[in-house]
Amino acid sequence: MIETDLTFKKSEVEPFRWRGRDFFVKRDDLIDPRFSGNKLRKLYSLFKLKNDDFCRVVSYGGAQSNAMLSIAYLAAMKGWEFVYYVKKMPKWLENSPTGNLKRALELKMELRQLPHESFYENIESIKESISNDEIFVPQGGAASIASEGVKVLAEEILEWKESRGVDSFTVATPSGTGTTALYLAKYLPKSVDVVTTPVVGDAQILHAQWAKLHKEGDPLPKILDGFGKHPFAKPHPAFLETWISLKNSGIEFDLIYAPRMWIELELAYESFRKPLLYIHSGGVSGNESQLDHYIFKGLLKT
Ligand SMILES: *Cc1c(COP(=O)(O)O)cnc(C)c1O
Repeated sequence: MIETDLTFKKSEVEPFRWRGRDFFVKRDDLIDPRFSGNKLRKLYSLFKLKNDDFCRVVSYGGAQSNAMLSIAYLAAMKGWEFVYYVKKMPKWLENSPTGNLKRALELKMELRQLPHESFYENIESIKESISNDEIFVPQGGAASIASEGVKVLAEEILEWKESRGVDSFTVATPSGTGTTALYLAKYLPKSVDVVTTPVVGDAQILHAQWAKLHKEGDPLPKILDGFGKHPFAKPHPAFLETWISLKNSGIEFDLIYAPRMWIELELAYESFRKPLLYIHSGGVSGNESQLDHYIFKGLLKT
């Protein structure tokens, strides 16, 4: 049985000292252990839909995606079917699913594989044939449906600002689709700088993503790109080292997005308006399978 209760409690903000520098971390990862923090924010508007109005959620993306697992929980709680499209997977993963994929399948997610060559073409036609009782969620939840929940996050950040009596400060969050950072910049006042870093692709790709959701006149987050382009989710010794050091300082972050953002924050620390507030978007459930990649690549000993 799946627990269908979900209370959207406000996340706490904690002081965090790392490598001799002071930060604050908003613990969106702790709102509900089942959900990756910002995915819960992004799916917020879907939680508020009536269970009977829909029967199925359809989405697509990576086979270990945090968004995928969060949607699988959402669907299970709502009593909706969940159909998820991935590119043809390697045999070893198909035969013995791990990590987020394993859990999503346990939640009865229906996994459908499509050929690499025609993947996005296929997704386009699937999207066009969505019926009235189905919800289509683009990869990573990069859609206007995410706006409502991120607005709530922005409001909580403003409450924190009031309680601390600060005026201007900086909010940091790494970008996959860039949706979280974009809507934070939209809903926070000009006195708050929103900084991010492209974990998928590069600054150009992030701008292209933003162009799909951005409204004329709305502010854009500031992109920090000192690290340079690196393939998504590919192990890097600097990521592992940063992740371990953060963990030793008291907080476990995800191993795919967070290290890159923290590297950028360390590089540019002096230039930020303080205090600096990092949004912990969860994703820790993906660490198990990602650590396996590090071991497989010989970057980490068992
Ligand atoms: C999905 C995710 C992100 C990226 O969020 P976007 O809104 O797609 O930019 C960042 N951090 C973690 C841990 C995530 O799971």
